[in-house]
Amino acid sequence: MDKEFFKNLTIKKVAKAMQDGDTTALELTQYYLENIKGKNGELNAYLRIFAGAEDQARKIDEDIKNGKIMGPLAGIPFAIKDNMLIKGEVASASSKILENYRATYDATVIKKLREAGAIFLGTVNMDEFAMGSSTENSAFGPTKNPHDPARVPGGSSGGSAVAVAADMALASLGSDTGGSIRQPASFCGEVGLKPTYGRVSRSGLIAMASSLDQIGPITRTVEDAEIIFNIIKGKDPLDATTVNEDVIPETKQENKKLKIGLLTYDKNVVAPEINDMMEKSVEMLKQAGHEIMEVTLPYLKYSLSCYYIIMPAEVSSNLARLDGVKYGLLKEGDNLLDDYLKTRGTGFGKEAKRRIMIGTYVLSSGYYDDYYSKAQEIRDLIRRDFENAFDLSAGGVDAIILPTTTEPAFKIGEKTDDPMKMYLEDIFTVSANLAGVPAISIPTGFAERDGVKLPLGLQIIAPHFREDVLFSLGKQVENAKIKV
Ligand code: GLN
Repeated sequence: MDKEFFKNLTIKKVAKAMQDGDTTALELTQYYLENIKGKNGELNAYLRIFAGAEDQARKIDEDIKNGKIMGPLAGIPFAIKDNMLIKGEVASASSKILENYRATYDATVIKKLREAGAIFLGTVNMDEFAMGSSTENSAFGPTKNPHDPARVPGGSSGGSAVAVAADMALASLGSDTGGSIRQPASFCGEVGLKPTYGRVSRSGLIAMASSLDQIGPITRTVEDAEIIFNIIKGKDPLDATTVNEDVIPETKQENKKLKIGLLTYDKNVVAPEINDMMEKSVEMLKQAGHEIMEVTLPYLKYSLSCYYIIMPAEVSSNLARLDGVKYGLLKEGDNLLDDYLKTRGTGFGKEAKRRIMIGTYVLSSGYYDDYYSKAQEIRDLIRRDFENAFDLSAGGVDAIILPTTTEPAFKIGEKTDDPMKMYLEDIFTVSANLAGVPAISIPTGFAERDGVKLPLGLQIIAPHFREDVLFSLGKQVENAKIKV
């Protein structure tokens, strides 16, 4: 097949080309491996490239020929975030403490992709243990934004977004605890989906904050995200928080006129192009026949403070298992306590340590009630805010739109000295995780900085289990090709 065919491909297009015998999994895999060779030195998206990818592709081609495997993901090359376990491969969560840790089993999402015939090209960079908004917190150096390598790709799934944006994979998986799929997807011009909490198994995902984490796809189109979501979702006996799909009512939103809530937000904290993008999106949705109304969620203003208490509390507990005894790095000291101190002292980066300290502080007796309990109460109010907003019988809406970020991709090093500035990056994304509702970011226009066009993203949030609304509206926004 002509090389031009492979540029900016979608899963949909490939599936058809493979069916027609116009290309093979091997040809496709070799195309991406070549791009990785050419670009990864500069962009630092991949941490490891799997030697067996081509063999895997040959096997899939055989299986496709023999009719042993079919479906839209057969032969599709993926980049996988470094916090998901792939049996036999290193999974380091971009941390020194797990630098040499090899996974002993497949994460459930990996197992499902494998069964669907997907090919794994390698593992990609992230902020250490998924803590960050720029992929600068990786122990293995920052990943760069392909639109402007002086800028960050967003985080923590920066490697996943860059792999797709720079044509180094056809699709990728990321994880989202407070925005880590949506924000990098937005900064790199891709689609990023955070599913409803409990819809995709977390088994085999190195935990950051277990009540907030969800795995989801980063892709070029909404349709591709939908294809992957439909394969990775579902009840898993290995993750007790997953929901049985049978209890979710079948709903199709295609062509329905919806009530859409435009979230009220402070326009002064947002780049002018993003305000413009929001206005144009509203206009487009109105023209498509949807009803638009403003919505205010009264407790939303507390979501960032609430997130930065609950998340570190869970982080401090989840990362306690990394003690030099069970997994990864061991730095021996004079006694057991010294082992812990040396191992954790050298193994964890600065941001991981900061969050462990905040987490243990808010959970300590004497402060627990003032911080952790309060934050849990606020979390409940935020969840109820969404429930009320989505209550159609009380004048509510089918979906809410808001920006994904306050600005386009910022410069490498711009916020590293000021954690508060970095945390403010998450202002539009954390509430969906706190409430457990699904959210998607759709590339919508550009903002020019230093003569470079940088992508922007529109975020859509839907009620629990209503990913179908996100896909339907997302496709409409995507097809409208809104120009900013
Ligand atoms: N940027 C957020 C944080 O630093 C979100 C991270 C994530 O979603 N994994 O916590």
